[in-house]
Formats: sequence, C-alpha cells, structure tokens
Amino acid sequence: MKKVLMGNEAVAYSLFINGVNVVVGYPGTPSTEVIETLKNFQDDDFYVEWSTNEKVALEIAAGASLAGARAVATMKQVGLNVAADPLLSLSVVGVEGGLIVFVADDPGPHSSQTEQDTRNFARFCNLPVFDPSSPKEAFELIKPAFEISEKYNLPVLYRMTTRVCHSNQSIEFELKREKRRIKGFEKRPDWVILPALSYKKHVELEKKLQDIKKDLSVYNRVEGKGKIGIITGGVSYFYVKEAIKGFEDLFSILKITVAHPLDDEIVLGFVEDKEVLIFIEELDPVLEEEVKLILFENGKLLPVYGKRNGYVPFAGEFDVDKVRNIFYKILSDEKFLVRNTFVDVLQIPKRQAQLCAGCPHRNSFLIVKYAMKGKDVIFTGDIGCYTLGFAKPISTTDTCLCMGASITMAQGLKIADRSKKVISFIGDSTFFHSGITGLVNSYYNRHNITVCILDNLTTGMTGFQPHPGTGKKIYGEEGRKVSIEDIVKGIGVEKILVIDPYSDFTENVNKVREFLKDEELGVIIFRRECANMGSKESYLKINQNCSNCKGCMQITGCPALKEDENGNIFIDSALCNGCGLCKSFCPYSAIEKVMKDD
Ligand code: SF4
Ligand code: SF4
Repeated sequence: MKKVLMGNEAVAYSLFINGVNVVVGYPGTPSTEVIETLKNFQDDDFYVEWSTNEKVALEIAAGASLAGARAVATMKQVGLNVAADPLLSLSVVGVEGGLIVFVADDPGPHSSQTEQDTRNFARFCNLPVFDPSSPKEAFELIKPAFEISEKYNLPVLYRMTTRVCHSNQSIEFELKREKRRIKGFEKRPDWVILPALSYKKHVELEKKLQDIKKDLSVYNRVEGKGKIGIITGGVSYFYVKEAIKGFEDLFSILKITVAHPLDDEIVLGFVEDKEVLIFIEELDPVLEEEVKLILFENGKLLPVYGKRNGYVPFAGEFDVDKVRNIFYKILSDEKFLVRNTFVDVLQIPKRQAQLCAGCPHRNSFLIVKYAMKGKDVIFTGDIGCYTLGFAKPISTTDTCLCMGASITMAQGLKIADRSKKVISFIGDSTFFHSGITGLVNSYYNRHNITVCILDNLTTGMTGFQPHPGTGKKIYGEEGRKVSIEDIVKGIGVEKILVIDPYSDFTENVNKVREFLKDEELGVIIFRRECANMGSKESYLKINQNCSNCKGCMQITGCPALKEDENGNIFIDSALCNGCGLCKSFCPYSAIEKVMKDD
C-alpha cells in the first residue's frame, strides 16, 4: 500500500509492522503522534499506554524488554531528562527484547522550555542514536534499530526533530506485522545492577561500541564529488540539498544518520580530497566535534566552518533560507570565488503564543490575580498550556522552569523571601507527572504556599491525552480514576477549595481572597474542561450599549474579542466559547449571551 504519513505516523506504522509489543510514553510535542497513531492498531501481543511520566514509561518498557518483548518509550527532549536515570542504568544493565527510546527534539524551540540535542545524550550514555532525515527514513530505520538493540542488548535512541516528526511523505509498504515469540523473563544475575557488575559492564560497553560503529556505518553515506565537503544529518540534510541546488558540482555531502558512535573510516575517506569542511547541523556541534576528533587523531588538518568559529548558529531551528545564508556567509569569505549567489532569509510573520478563546485557565488566572490585587505576590508557573499565564494582560506567571517545578520553586522562594505570598500554578496532567512530590515536600516541611491546580480534565497542549485524573485509558475505556482531591487530602493538606472558573467571576474572586487570607498551605483546584473539548453551547455578542472602551479586550486578552476595520470591538462567534469572562468586566452591560441554537 501507498500512504502519505507524517514522520511520527511513519514511526508508528513501522513499529507495528516490526513487531513492537509494548509502547508507552508521556505526551509532549513534537513526539505525541507516535502513540496517538499506535493506539489505532490492535493485536493480541500489542499493548500501548500513556504513562504518568517519562521515567515511569521507560521503566515499564525496560521491564517488558527484559521479558523479551520489543518495547518503545516515547517522549520529547525534555522528557528524556526525566527518564535519564533509568536510561543511564539501562545502558549498563542492558536489555533483552529490542528497546527503542524515541525522543523528539524541538529545535526552535516551538513548544518547549529548552532546546536540547538528544545526540548528546547518546554520547553521554554510550548508546547508539539514529537521526532520520525524513518520514520515509524514519520508517525504514526502525527495523535496524530493533535489530541493533537485540544484537548488542542495548537500548537504542531514536532521535527525530520537529520538522521530521511533523512533515508528510508518501511511503510504500506492506501492512504486515512481524510475529515474534516473547520468551518470557529469565532470572539472571546481571539484571541486578551492583557496583562490581556495573564496572565490568561498562568495560564491555566500550568494546561493544567499536563493533556497533562498524555495523551502523552503512547508514551514513557520501554524495557528490565537489571539493567543498558538507557534513550534515537529520533534517538539515534536506535543507542543504535545497540550498545548494544549481551548484551541486561544488559540493559533496557526508550524510550522517547514525551520529553516535561515528565510524572513523567513512569520515577519513570523505575528507581525503576536500579543501574545506562545512558542518550543517541543528542545535549542538555533535558531528563537528566528533569529526574534528577523528581528524585530529589521524593527523588531518583542513579549514572547517561550523558552530565553533561562529559561522553556524548554535540555537534555533534551521530552514532552507537559513542554511543558504550560512553558505552565503561562508562562501563570501575571500577564500571562495562564489559570491552573492544566495538569497536572504524570508521573513515569516510571528504569532504571539496565547491561551485559546474561552480557555478556563484565563478565568482561573484572573480570579487569582484579582483576589490578590494590591498584594505583593509571586506567581510560579509550570509547563503546559498554563505557561501562557505569563502573557499580557494575564501576567500571573513569574517563573517557569520544568514540569512540576512551580510547586517546588514556590517553596524555595518562600524560604528566601518570607514577606511575599507565593502562589503556584500547575496543570492536572503535570500534577500527576511530577507535582505530587513537590506538594508532599511542602506539607512535610511546612512551606506555606498556595498551589492552584488548573484541572482541564485532559493533557491539553499535546492534544487531549487522558491521564490518571480522567480515569479513562488510552482508548477511552475505563481505567481507574485517581482523584486529585483525595491525593491532596491523603498528603495531609486540609485546606482545599474547588472552583469552577466559568462560574460567577466576582463570587470566585471573593472565595479565593478569603481562602488566601491566612498564610498556610492550601490547594485550589480550578476545574473546567478544556475549551476545545466538548460541544459549545453558547457564545457572547456585544450589543448597542457598548462604549467601545475596549476594557473587555484589554483585561482578558481573549482572542475572540476583535476590532473591526473602524476600530469597533466585536466578538468572533466562531471562536467564542461562551465562558462569560469578558462580561464580568463590561461596565455598560454591553455583552450578552446567545444560546447556540437560538
Ligand atoms: S465569553 Fe468573552 S472571554 Fe469568553 S471566550 Fe467569549 S469572548 Fe472570550
Ligand atoms: S468592556 Fe463593554 S463597553 Fe467596553 S468595549 Fe467591551 S463590550 Fe464594549
């Protein structure tokens, strides 16, 4: 069959065809669609779930692998930090069934707190890493990734970047699943990581890497015969191909698909007749450093252009125009004769990140903001839709570090700056991911902060994945619902308030103000389903009483409130979710509700 597949879908199809038995992960853009696609597949030896965080997921996958199953843990790059502990240990303990750790990096970054390069993790953990350039390649490399994992009993990192994850390509394949026998868990002393064993296995691992690099070298290739050598990998390979169109004779390309461990022979063969080397890779200079090391060890010296001498940027996502500009900069150097050949970067207009129209988090943030008006308060934020609480006019997020850190950082701030009230915001899925431990610490150590859990009954930013608080499992079937209130009470927190952020704004402000009067540990759960879930029953419209003061727009920042060409304010009924927030701020009773069926 021939099918147009997105990169992540291509990975999912290939995993299924190649007999994966267990796929677990935590949603995170740009990785999410692997599991979202796989949940549509079914087989009697196939299991898929959303786990509470990436560490949990990798440990589940590791358990399945030790029993001989082919397993995959999926995550985004920052999720790999959470899963780093089991990953590093697994590189020493080893695996049995093929184990792929699928990590989607987010150069840009588009939806992450940091840019990270998972190829560095591969070097750090001494593990092989595949870095496919296209959806088709992502499809094709799953099979060897499993095979290498099984041959060397090591986890394999499968790193993709946003553009590869989310671009589409037509792929031809047979939807036929490889059937494998799962042999079951066999007790072996080397599954128990003791220091003496760890040392022995580390020595073995270093030896294995020498063999692995020979096996994997076939996935790296040389193209062209030009004297200017370009070393590239991942999606940058395609940017390079586009950027040098019409000038191909000048260049040759070493395309690196397996960035670690990198085989010396192909590198040395490539540089043999080159006058200069240019490294085009997103994020860190992984290829640049590895290749330079090989050159140095083999006494080869030639001019190099890359990140380390400032010709190629360290940060941000590349595209064809950016790569063209890099070439322009390098080739404008007096060493080169090809000048003024490449065009300037196309400017794409940027859209400011903001909460959706009718997002209940907007109401929750403003309720707390108004309840605390005139008070000296620090608001700590977390990762998810609610990170957008930092944006004007909401402005109730003063810090944001990583998943769960709103609660723990709030405690640190409170210790250091007792005079201020500290209020943290966290989402429901994030609370389960890593907020719970922070709250336990707050209770145990008597840190008097307020934790606001913005419960929109889903994992919103990544596309509505369920979590323990929803009680639904991956297919929408019943799991067991974990109550946030019961957890909070179970920890020992006595002060709890549950609020519907869509209900009367003034009443909610008064309730929250009263709740926050005393300096004690408390949890407010703002519960209302995500505005993009469920059906819309009403919207609001502006009537003739409007004085066009624009207060509603300026206070809420709701994107459904717009100005027409004459500067008059109106509500875009297609976007408005009927949350009623803007109505609370209109001094002229100029906003009224319209039922959708009226
Ligand atoms: S009711 Fe007002 S604030 Fe709520 S979504 Fe509609 S326009 Fe936005
Ligand atoms: S706050 Fe009321 S009067 Fe002012 S622009 Fe909005 S709808 Fe019109």
